[in-house]
Amino acid sequence: MDFTGLEHIIGLECVVCGERYALADTLYACPRCGEVGALDVLYADTTQRQPAEGPLTFWRQRDLLPVKGVPVAGLAALGGTPLIGYDALQNLATALDVGEVCIKNDGLNLTGSLKDRASAMVVNYAVQTLGRRVIATASTGNAAAALAGCCAAVPDAEAVIFVPASAPEAKVAQMLIFGARVILVDGDYDTAFDLCTEACQEFGWYNRSTGINPMTTEGKKTVAFEIAEQLNWNLPDVIVVSVGDGSIIGGVHKGCRELYNLGWVDKLPRLIGVQAAGSDALVDAWERGLTAPEMVPHPAHTVADSISSGLPRDRAKALRAVRETDGAFVRVSDDAILEAIPMLARQSGVFAEPAAAASLAGLQEARRQGLVQPDEQVLVLITGNGLKDVRSAMQTVSHQKPAITPPTLAAVQAVAGKWS
Ligand SMILES: [Zn+2]
Repeated sequence: MDFTGLEHIIGLECVVCGERYALADTLYACPRCGEVGALDVLYADTTQRQPAEGPLTFWRQRDLLPVKGVPVAGLAALGGTPLIGYDALQNLATALDVGEVCIKNDGLNLTGSLKDRASAMVVNYAVQTLGRRVIATASTGNAAAALAGCCAAVPDAEAVIFVPASAPEAKVAQMLIFGARVILVDGDYDTAFDLCTEACQEFGWYNRSTGINPMTTEGKKTVAFEIAEQLNWNLPDVIVVSVGDGSIIGGVHKGCRELYNLGWVDKLPRLIGVQAAGSDALVDAWERGLTAPEMVPHPAHTVADSISSGLPRDRAKALRAVRETDGAFVRVSDDAILEAIPMLARQSGVFAEPAAAASLAGLQEARRQGLVQPDEQVLVLITGNGLKDVRSAMQTVSHQKPAITPPTLAAVQAVAGKWS
């Protein structure tokens, strides 16, 4: 391990008990609190700093990241996904009955999900600072595909993946194509998570799993940096984020908070976390006023595999994100999630996987509950590409599947005559 070049990081702080540690003291969660004690990476107070310029990549604001100089080869160009602005989405805003809406499309990352941000940050930190070569993770699918892709992009990094046997085929295909070692676990995500933790202890692999690895938040917060910059440093009133383990909403919160503390933005958006009704541990904890250590596992089952989590691993950061921004958690049915896929696609040109479309369904629910006002600006964060789970997407359009048409103009005329 060599921490030279990371002097802008002053330590780690437990989200639950507030204990501080040096960067070299622990790789994972708070030793005192155990797994629930997720750690924040703390940076030196440099409030005079201005936003860095250059290509829009994950690494652009590197003084606010656990990166030494330039990132390792293979990862340097990643980042900079499109933000579809308010002007282009006026019809969607009308349909949703909100003032203005914009979309950050993180389905266009390297492996098609926002998880590339976390995996790139972890792989870079592992190789550049820790001198580790084998990196393992448990995942519902996207984090694994992201780790596999980032390891494949870097010479000398190897990915070991623990994924539930029920993971969508396209995600497993990505992992295998990228050359990762894949362990398909006979069990759910929570089982895979615990097995990965044990295996890392036994075999000395570096564990990228969400929640326990503080560098995942550092990666995920870069989406907030990009959003702020793409909106000319004017953050919206509300950001809607789908939530499984809670790591993305925790990262969005930390990113927005850091920009606010630096004075680069003048408000903190309210964060609305959206969970599937079949995997709603954080909604339940929020409604009942529970703290993260008080939460117990819930059974989890939803079509939105990426946000299926019985005991969200980044629960402390997720609850903090919503409570500190005066936000909310909402739950949405699987039917509402599936219906949101074509609605989003047809109004914006963005094809989202179920977990990502859940954020749009969640915005509709939040609007119904009066959690978002009709004159507000809202950003919907799209976290994963629809091509990752074509089977679920097809369910939403199966009734529209076209019949096979003879190759004649008369036949086309007959078909077109039925279009309204
Ligand atoms: Zn602690």
